[in-house]
Amino acid sequence: MTDAPADTLVRDAELVVTLDRADIPGGWVAIRDGLVSAVGRPGEEPAATRTLSARGSLVTPGLINTHHHIYQNLTRSFAPALNVELFDWLTVLYPVWANLDEEAIEVSTWVGLAELALGGCTTTTDLLYVHPRPGFIDAQIRAAREVGLRFHPARGSMSLSQKDGGLPPDSVVQSDDEILADCERAVRAHHDPAPGAMVRIALGPCSPFSVTPELMTATAELAERLDVRLHTHLAEAREEDTFCLEKFGRRPVEQFEHVGWGSDRSWVAHCVHPDDDEIARLGQWGTGVAHCPSSNMLIGAGTARVKDLRTAGVPVGLGCDGSASTDHASLWLEARTALLVAKGRGGSASMTARDILEIATVGSAACLGRADELGRIRAGRPADLVVWELDEIAFAGAHTDLVEAWLRCGPVRPRHTLVHGRPIVEDGRLTLPHVRDMLTEHARISRRLQALDR
Ligand code: ZN
Repeated sequence: MTDAPADTLVRDAELVVTLDRADIPGGWVAIRDGLVSAVGRPGEEPAATRTLSARGSLVTPGLINTHHHIYQNLTRSFAPALNVELFDWLTVLYPVWANLDEEAIEVSTWVGLAELALGGCTTTTDLLYVHPRPGFIDAQIRAAREVGLRFHPARGSMSLSQKDGGLPPDSVVQSDDEILADCERAVRAHHDPAPGAMVRIALGPCSPFSVTPELMTATAELAERLDVRLHTHLAEAREEDTFCLEKFGRRPVEQFEHVGWGSDRSWVAHCVHPDDDEIARLGQWGTGVAHCPSSNMLIGAGTARVKDLRTAGVPVGLGCDGSASTDHASLWLEARTALLVAKGRGGSASMTARDILEIATVGSAACLGRADELGRIRAGRPADLVVWELDEIAFAGAHTDLVEAWLRCGPVRPRHTLVHGRPIVEDGRLTLPHVRDMLTEHARISRRLQALDR
């Protein structure tokens, strides 16, 4: 029993899964000043100013997205880029993205973050690697502050254009000096190292085939100096093996190590194609992996060896990847897909829904360098949690394992998504104003980018 006054009490859950202590049937979570103040059993609820009902629901830590390119929601399901593999897909889209401007970035980020909240996400990264104009990271952070999601944008970059043997056209790359200066500026302007931070910046050269090795090395040195994290794509497609062997004489993971990235400061997207030895080395370095199963399958890249990666000690998190390759941004859907892919790959006993929940919370928090703060519901930690409604038709008859039901049945959307104690989704609806107006703006901007008439 606690007498601590709470400002919010989430109560009467069917089950509270904290990933910190035993599950609590009928449990509750009390919140004060954005932090969890107590968690407990029925009958021990503290007084609170406001109550949110979790009746008939599963309460979990908020899901954490470790890989995304939110601006790509402006070219979602873009017909000219469908049904092709990675390099062709990028080649079609780069010239379209060259027309992005600050308004497009702010509106697409706002819409993307709202969509993530509706899928149970409370913290997300974003790797924005196209900077044809200045001010994009700043525009993203304005949108994140308005929406209220915890935000870890990576200041992405591309510097190796077609004329230098890379994949992107000149119109979307910048010089190494320009990139490094803006990375440092973005960190100094926005990065908050304090506990409970709502914004942290990472540095994110895009991939071995779109930046120079010199930029990879210089970025790793800058991240060390500024004490921020490093993010990039690694071993996503077979084409990348061929490219790296021809250009650098090394496989992608060898090249990653060669440029100084083999470290627990780094987390990488995909890692579909490392061999056994490379998986062991990723584990020794403590480099995190953002598992993005939908994107990998839609783009035909294959499926990552998640179980092997985890066994090797690699922190594995969940990512939805960009909205022009995955086309959705629901971490619930991504979690379900991860479960299907794992079982399809390794057999039914290879992975449980609880394993996937741990990947999407604890594992993701480790990728973002916040395992000590995020990913579990515990007193004193930020109150990032989701109340999943399980009393709908799709869950009729599911009683014996609600975490399995959460991913096997459905679809399910959050009743409440709370970030730092604040509901961004409440009673199934976004609490944000102007959602319709933002969608109208988004439609106008995306149609202009896609060169459509109206
Ligand atoms: Zn990506």
